[in-house]
Amino acid sequence: MNYRHGYHAGNFADLLKHSALCELLRLLTAKDKKLFVLDTHAGAGGYDLAGAKARRTGEAEAGIGRLMAESRTGMPAAVARYLAAVQAYDRKFGPPGGVLHRYPGSPRLVRAALRPGDRFIACEKHPEEALLLKREFAGDQAVEVRQADGYHAIKSTLPPVERRALVLIDPPFEATDEFEVLARAVRHGLRRFATGCYAIWYPVKDEPAVEAFIQSLAETHYLRMELDLGPRTPEGKLAACGLVVINPPWKFEEAMREALPWIAARLGDGARSSLVASPASPPPQA
Ligand code: SAM
Repeated sequence: MNYRHGYHAGNFADLLKHSALCELLRLLTAKDKKLFVLDTHAGAGGYDLAGAKARRTGEAEAGIGRLMAESRTGMPAAVARYLAAVQAYDRKFGPPGGVLHRYPGSPRLVRAALRPGDRFIACEKHPEEALLLKREFAGDQAVEVRQADGYHAIKSTLPPVERRALVLIDPPFEATDEFEVLARAVRHGLRRFATGCYAIWYPVKDEPAVEAFIQSLAETHYLRMELDLGPRTPEGKLAACGLVVINPPWKFEEAMREALPWIAARLGDGARSSLVASPASPPPQA
């Protein structure tokens, strides 16, 4: 377990994952019914963008930095809402301005969207990251931080008493069999709770493994979104990634169809996005 999200926080992968996460949370909390959120691979919760890790890679600057520099005029609503969530978190750490001080990880974005009565469990296996996550939410009764294996939490927390859930699965993909472990965990989650909304991030490096994973979801209703930085990405750097959302809420597809091409257009020449619905998806609603 060498992965530390601090090197990558706010990069293009986070733009995809976190803009979608904010939209899912907005739509799922619009209904007057309680929601359970499980973040299986939560990370440290928040990341210092002026620190050594972020500065070493420059990924935040090439990601969230580019979006923050854009005028809000004409910006897709989902992107504007995501940036507002990022700024709301950042404001606690320094004066507002063009440059961000700190970037919110997925648990912070979830926390900002929770209503009284919603429930949130954030799992992080790495001891140091889990300690940072516990510190990030110290004294906050609305967040249950577990230093635990997030895949096990899928088994132990589903089905939730609320009967409505968002499960974010965002593994580091260090293990060579991560896609198989992930596919098993998702199958297990769906068996326990078929109507939950599952958002699953994946890197696009080993394309046959990606396709096999997507194929394993063939019976479900999903949206598959990808961002690809294009051929100019430096050798060895992640150039493309995806997020698949099983059982997306109504209006999510529409919001992301507008947001993703706009984001891709700001990530440099050759960057592109895609969004496809599963063959099992119902036709779009009028
Ligand atoms: N979801 C976070 C966000 O969006 O801000 C980023 C998470 S990062 C990509 C993946 C995290 O998963 C790392 O912090 C890593 O230590 C942790 N991790 C690895 N294996 C895990 C497991 N089996 N269960 C829980 N956490 C794990």
